[in-house]
Amino acid sequence: MRKRTLDAMAPAGTEYHDVFAMQAELGDHIAALTRNDGAYIANGAAAALAIAFLALMSDGDAAATAQLPMDRGGFRVLIQRSQRTPYDAVVRLVGASLVEIGDDNGTSVGQLVEAIERGARAYLFVPVRDDSASSLTLDEVVTVCKPRGIPVLVDAAAQLPPASNLWRYTTELGADAAAFSGGKEVRGPQNSGFLVGRRDLVEACRAIGPPHQTLARALKVSPEVMAGLVAAIEDYLLEDEDETIAQREKMVEMWVDSWDAIPGVEAFRDFPNVAGQPCPRAAVRIDFDRIPLSSEELANRLWHFERIAVASEGDLVLVNPSPVDVGEADIILDRLAYHLQNPAAHTGPTPQRPDL
Ligand SMILES: *Cc1c(COP(=O)(O)O)cnc(C)c1O
Repeated sequence: MRKRTLDAMAPAGTEYHDVFAMQAELGDHIAALTRNDGAYIANGAAAALAIAFLALMSDGDAAATAQLPMDRGGFRVLIQRSQRTPYDAVVRLVGASLVEIGDDNGTSVGQLVEAIERGARAYLFVPVRDDSASSLTLDEVVTVCKPRGIPVLVDAAAQLPPASNLWRYTTELGADAAAFSGGKEVRGPQNSGFLVGRRDLVEACRAIGPPHQTLARALKVSPEVMAGLVAAIEDYLLEDEDETIAQREKMVEMWVDSWDAIPGVEAFRDFPNVAGQPCPRAAVRIDFDRIPLSSEELANRLWHFERIAVASEGDLVLVNPSPVDVGEADIILDRLAYHLQNPAAHTGPTPQRPDL
């Protein structure tokens, strides 16, 4: 978090607040900042989606949430199989059911229409990096869903930059709402997130959301988190995005140049990143004959000994520069090089890094 975020949190956490009024006022402020009709603050993007689904299921009627799940799985939420993520569990969390359409390679418009005809109440779109490019685009999904009265929610938790995504999914592409994480690119409190979009859906979230004593009470968001999130969004929108991305390009270039010079290592720039954002990653491939270290073992060592989290995919280690500070980039450069140059420094397997 930036210092101004922390500074905004302290008074919000020590003074008395009307949390309902704060949710409405700060939500309206976020809506204005992000050029949306409405915004709702939650304790994470996943929580924002859970509350939004609950709002749809109950029509914003707090009393109705006492009956949920109202029809035991009858509230069907469609998702393309190519866009499944561990986070879509929020649909089941609130008692709705997730219905997969398409296959690993993609989805057709016909498959979507058919699924709606079999019964659907909402659609969850996840803008993941899609190399197959045969999944339905958000534009296609909205075109089919809108005239049939199926609300489209976007899980945009990791879709910044570009900052313009804060309004693109909703005001330009026509999604009903999009959820963003406050604890990722925005650098707000880790347990913060927000939903932007349709005003009446946001009002419904406010009506059933915490601290109301409904199912959503388990997803309570505090005044200090709300205040910190708002400060973080304000500062995030003031940043020069081209400059931020250029800095990440420089970091990746520096990493790639240094690691590639190590005998037995091939390093290169990977683009776009895992979430399809316009940011690079550094990819490292190890020649196992010269350096007896698997990509997974290297990732485990970096996590266990250095508390540096990198991804290992097949024979690659992938290093993401966001949101690394310039000084931290040097530490990462040094520690990765150390483990590549000292594969025998540790004997026996390193404890497994937990899935992130
Ligand atoms: C990180 C992430 C989430 C969860 O966001 P939180 O703010 O941590 O709740 C949900 N969906 C996707 C695609 C994510 O990358």
